[in-house]
Amino acid sequence: MEPVRVVGNSYYLPATSNTGLFKDYVIDPGSTGYKEVAGKEINNVLITHGHNDHFRHACEFRERGARVIASRDDALLVRYPEVNIRGLFSWAKPPIELVTPYFQGNACEVDRLVEEWQDPAIRPVFLPGHTLGQYGFITEDGVFYTADALYSEDLWSKYKLPYCIDPDVCRTSLRRIKEQDFDYIVPGHGRPLTRSEALKAADFHLSQLDKVDDVVLDLISEPVSMEDLLSMLAEKLKLYHSMNNYYIALVMLKGHMSSLVGRGKAGYKLENFTLYWYRI
Ligand SMILES: [Zn+2]
Repeated sequence: MEPVRVVGNSYYLPATSNTGLFKDYVIDPGSTGYKEVAGKEINNVLITHGHNDHFRHACEFRERGARVIASRDDALLVRYPEVNIRGLFSWAKPPIELVTPYFQGNACEVDRLVEEWQDPAIRPVFLPGHTLGQYGFITEDGVFYTADALYSEDLWSKYKLPYCIDPDVCRTSLRRIKEQDFDYIVPGHGRPLTRSEALKAADFHLSQLDKVDDVVLDLISEPVSMEDLLSMLAEKLKLYHSMNNYYIALVMLKGHMSSLVGRGKAGYKLENFTLYWYRI
């Protein structure tokens, strides 16, 4: 696949997880590696966040002399992908079939933290919520690589409940995206968006997070256990039925429950060693 020019020196390689190219930077070499961008001089590997589908091939560039740059929080996940895998299962070791392939893959050493790196041609924007330390990057061409902070409407219709560990922080990041000066967005997944499409997509994303809250609140008018609630939510949102999607969805549901409790909309109680959630 040939790199597609967005504008100026800002390109991307369309794939399951998009890879960005800007001057001597490669951004998120997850689906595409050194072979695909051979011929281009790469001195810097920017990693938006610590999910393996965004850094699986980072080492191929590092072995050839490029430096790898990731955020303070997510560098841990890049160096030790096991942290993601264990985190998913409350730090116990999960049977491997329960782990999404997005979390499995190659570890890579990180040479520089985003927080300590500076280049006036490309600047970082802190966009946590999908992970604790996710960053997007805006090039001097006005192209904003937003990773997994913004999902298009197409993506919402495909995945129904795209991964987010903290909906409140996701909301803040979406508002931050809307405030930035950019002309195009290259998301982690899906096609690039113009500014007006991106602003619409951000509003849609915000409304979908609210919708998940509303659906959950509807389901807990009577106390419901987490397992039952997840099953009811999956039915309601028509979630894809698979072993690893079950665990991913459970993480997201926990995020929404914590947010609803924090906003005084839901409560919880322990009965017979089962945790029940209810609407307030
Ligand atoms: Zn991700």
